Amino acid sequence: MKEIRPGVWFVEAENKGRYPYSHSLYLKGAGNLLIDTGAGLVLEELAAKTEQVVLSHYHRDHVTFNYLFKGASISIHREDAPGVESLEGFLRLSGFDQVDIEAYWKMIRQIDFSATKVDRYLVDGDYFDLGRLKVRVLHFPGHTPGHCGFLVEEYNLIYASDIDLTAFGPWYGNPSSDHDQFRLSIRRLRDLKPELLVTGHNTMVANKIDQKLAAYEAVLDQRDEAILAVLKEKPATLEQLAAKKIIYRRHFDQEILRFFEKSMINKHLESLLKREMIAKSEEGLFVAL
Ligand SMILES: [Zn+2]
Ligand SMILES: [Zn+2]
Repeated sequence: MKEIRPGVWFVEAENKGRYPYSHSLYLKGAGNLLIDTGAGLVLEELAAKTEQVVLSHYHRDHVTFNYLFKGASISIHREDAPGVESLEGFLRLSGFDQVDIEAYWKMIRQIDFSATKVDRYLVDGDYFDLGRLKVRVLHFPGHTPGHCGFLVEEYNLIYASDIDLTAFGPWYGNPSSDHDQFRLSIRRLRDLKPELLVTGHNTMVANKIDQKLAAYEAVLDQRDEAILAVLKEKPATLEQLAAKKIIYRRHFDQEILRFFEKSMINKHLESLLKREMIAKSEEGLFVAL
């Protein structure tokens, strides 16, 4: 744990914050508050002191260690709450009724789903008043429908969770994800002009934040262009496009990664259709216009 601003502690996750772990933020004040519980067993030392846990979204890599915080009140956006409250809700939001779920648990090194009781539903603009520090909830949908960031107003510091500035780029591989909303959330984050950006899977960023967010946003356009380049050569089905590994450079022979690839390509196709840059033939072939 590292105090990055007075009262604000960065909890570096196991595996350097790479999936299936994610960094947490711990804020000391009236009502010690922890943002996300994916950092690993390093969180054990905070379990007794933490009074409130806020979750950025329902993905397992951000909520794995919820069970350590039995004495704390737990909050998450209403749209993501079903994803932590029950296995059925998790499978529905994830679209995992379509994949081999055993292989998924193995990949994230968990044995099964453990349910969380949610005490409060977050909405955009909600405040947590910790005395010296005030934390504002920012609804940043796209990655998941209820994905939220958190602004520590005193320091203009934002925990943006999975608007994560990784080289991979934005991720929207669940049926409940929305890549157009993801773009709007990146724009909103850019407009807020944070001075320090903390994310779930990357190092903290204090310099050239806007430039880095712009490059991250541009990955969305690069994926559009890569899909259009394939379709300009030859019309293709969704399955054929997914086999091109445009988003995941490697699928490691994992069904789940093929599922995410297909799901994300599909969202681009829907958006390109809406923008009339492509058309769909009766045989299910996508054609560049
Ligand atoms: Zn996520
Ligand atoms: Zn994550």
